[in-house]
Amino acid sequence: MMTATMTEGRRATVLDGARVAEEIKAEATAEVARLARAHGIRPGLAVVRVGDDPASAVYVRNKVRTSEQLGLHSEHHALAADTTSEQLLALVAELNARAEIDGILVQLPLPPQIDEARVLAAIDPRKDVDGFHPLNVGNLVLGRPAFVPCTPAGIYELLARTGVEIGGAHACVVGRSHIVGRPLAQLLLQHDATVTVCHSRTRDLAAVTRAADILVAAVGRPGLIRAAHVKPGATVVDVGMNKITDEAAARELFGARADERIEVIRRRGYTLVGDVHPAEVEAVAGRLTPVPGGVGPLTVAMLMRNTVTAARRLRGL
Ligand code: NAP
Repeated sequence: MMTATMTEGRRATVLDGARVAEEIKAEATAEVARLARAHGIRPGLAVVRVGDDPASAVYVRNKVRTSEQLGLHSEHHALAADTTSEQLLALVAELNARAEIDGILVQLPLPPQIDEARVLAAIDPRKDVDGFHPLNVGNLVLGRPAFVPCTPAGIYELLARTGVEIGGAHACVVGRSHIVGRPLAQLLLQHDATVTVCHSRTRDLAAVTRAADILVAAVGRPGLIRAAHVKPGATVVDVGMNKITDEAAARELFGARADERIEVIRRRGYTLVGDVHPAEVEAVAGRLTPVPGGVGPLTVAMLMRNTVTAARRLRGL
């Protein structure tokens, strides 16, 4: 018995993002019903996609389906891959002006001929439910009310609702993208964490990450964060969503539980792995988000919440 326990090692507690996402969606659903009852309002979300990137198509389908499930009005605008900046800006202007649209989301990445910064800045900041408009970015940095990008906002909710102490903790965010790393660092700072941000030029990454009580990996490199990067007992949030197709890689990453992943690869052609090496890190971390089922579901849930908030704020409620 003793030997078996020692060989298996300890396992980090699973931070169940899917469960927290259901909780947030249930709250949004209740608020949608209340707005309908008390004010005759139905929040509306417009999702705009340009081109035919298959990953974007899946994300958009998921967002539209979830908004329908929650009782929101939802629209999907699919534009051709050769759409110009001017054409996209014209659609954004139209959506800005329409009263039944409360939230506008332009799915990134956009094709190279489109001026992404110009498009994001053209969205009415009050309808900017993705939180990428410079005004919302600035307000977040200033600690003022703002739409916070959905993935970092979801990570904050996950930590707060599962009782992870943020105030006074040392949080290390690996990745400095505008979508995840930077806004998350701001959010954690506002909740009194001591925040370190790492990136591709960080020297001795493991020495920095090993000091963290809360370690967030948002990099896009399968299994980059290994046991040596993690302080024993730390809370580790894995934002990465990487497809792997190689069975040997799956075996190395998932260890004793590789068989089910190999089964998935054989069935679907790939399996999803985060930026954290699951087999190594679950033996060291105190808490760990799974991939899939960790951060992913929270992103969509927070989009729903932001849209409901936009509908309320636009009407001064
Ligand atoms: P990104 O824009 O490509 O940024 C990646 C960041 O990682 C950059 O700041 C980069 O540094 C840093 N980096 C790259 N290699 C590194 C290394 N070896 N050591 C340390 N830092 C390194 O990616 P992103 O959009 O933030 O996304 C990150 C991951 O999260 C991806 O796997 C993406 O699919 C996933 N994601 C998931 C969700 C979700 O809902 N679950 C949402 C968004 C993103 P530099 O700045 O120096 O280049």
